[in-house]
Amino acid sequence: MVKYDTVLVRFGELSTKGKNRRDFIKQLDQNIRYILKDHSELKFERTHDRIYIHLHEEPLPEIEEKLKKVFGISSFSFTKKVETDIDKITETAFEIAQDVAKKTFKIQTKRHDKSYPMKSDDINRYVASHILKNSDYKVDVHQPELLIQIEVHKQSTYITSQKIHGAGGYPTGINGKCLLLLSGGIDSPVAAYEIMKRGIEVEAVHFASPPYTSQQAQQKVIDLATKVSIYQKKMKVHIVNFTDLQLAIYQNVPESYAITIMRRMMYRLAEKIAKKRGCLAIGTGESVGQVASQTLESMGCINQVISMPVLRPLVCQDKVEIIDLARKIDTYETSILPFEDCCTIFDPKNPVTKPLSEKCEQYEARFDYQPLLENCIDTMNTVEANYEKKEEDYL
Ligand code: ATP
Ligand code: MG
Repeated sequence: MVKYDTVLVRFGELSTKGKNRRDFIKQLDQNIRYILKDHSELKFERTHDRIYIHLHEEPLPEIEEKLKKVFGISSFSFTKKVETDIDKITETAFEIAQDVAKKTFKIQTKRHDKSYPMKSDDINRYVASHILKNSDYKVDVHQPELLIQIEVHKQSTYITSQKIHGAGGYPTGINGKCLLLLSGGIDSPVAAYEIMKRGIEVEAVHFASPPYTSQQAQQKVIDLATKVSIYQKKMKVHIVNFTDLQLAIYQNVPESYAITIMRRMMYRLAEKIAKKRGCLAIGTGESVGQVASQTLESMGCINQVISMPVLRPLVCQDKVEIIDLARKIDTYETSILPFEDCCTIFDPKNPVTKPLSEKCEQYEARFDYQPLLENCIDTMNTVEANYEKKEEDYL
């Protein structure tokens, strides 16, 4: 059996980023080292277009699972590294062909070192003819059962028969920080994932209304944050006690406008916290048409109270698409646990779907909400969600 000894990591999107490229690769390299930090025998090597991870005796499935969670990797392969010498290359390709025991194959060579005397096609032919002569394999250039990829560099050549899809996107941390409104629902954890995928670090804010919302509901939000924190090491979750503000809204505002005003308050608070925390945008899991507060009229009216950009990665996605993604990132089962959210508790019967800003302003003028906002910020609690911590570490 061929012993794969080097992981070859490809960047994809990064290659188009010109002068920022070096920073991107540096951040990606850091993120990869972090996620693999428990494997102390690994050695890392970075060039302008690849990261190489030299393996020792690590279990490959474990390394694979971890690397699949690193944004900025377009694909990676477990490869056998050999000296750039046609006989050594041929020998290894032949061994791989014998290991997998399929019927048809194709050789695909990429020369990163153009000074090597044989051209890619010459290498393809040379290696293929050896395999044809010494086995029952046939060549199929269109749909080969086995694709052997050979990547030739000056000193070393990397040979593999598989290419594993990476998470894509940009390395988390390269594009600033966003404050995400994180509820216990299905949407916002998915939004966290999508925002992180753009290379943006996410901190979260959650609005809780104890005693109307329970400790379990809050724990659920931390559990969700913990699940998505794997994509960026750790995730701060700011828990805001929203009760007094919410009660004031329900005392002073007609029921049909309560949700709109409540969401305007959430946005105001989010912007204040974002500024304090150095976040350049706020994020939500909103999706057009999903509920009364997510019509274009509502979104406009709610958005008006802040000036920061709002990232809504799910804005045009269907619920089924969101659910698929929630399953993929393993948040779905937690999201559907039946704990109440502050929105569900004071759920009005007939929420307005086309709110008017003037009316909102008129209702908001009925009570002095500024001190309530300030109090929310002053009493805010911050928890650090970390996928490496066990549940009892939070107690
Ligand atoms: P779902 O739509 O799956 O029930 P949700 O709670 O994400 O989940 P909405 O109630 O439609 O959906 O809320 C829209 C967005 O507002 C959420 O995606 C989230 O970003 C934000 N949000 C709602 N409730 C809260 C909350 N209690 N704390 C923080 N953010 C919230
Ligand atoms: Mg929603």
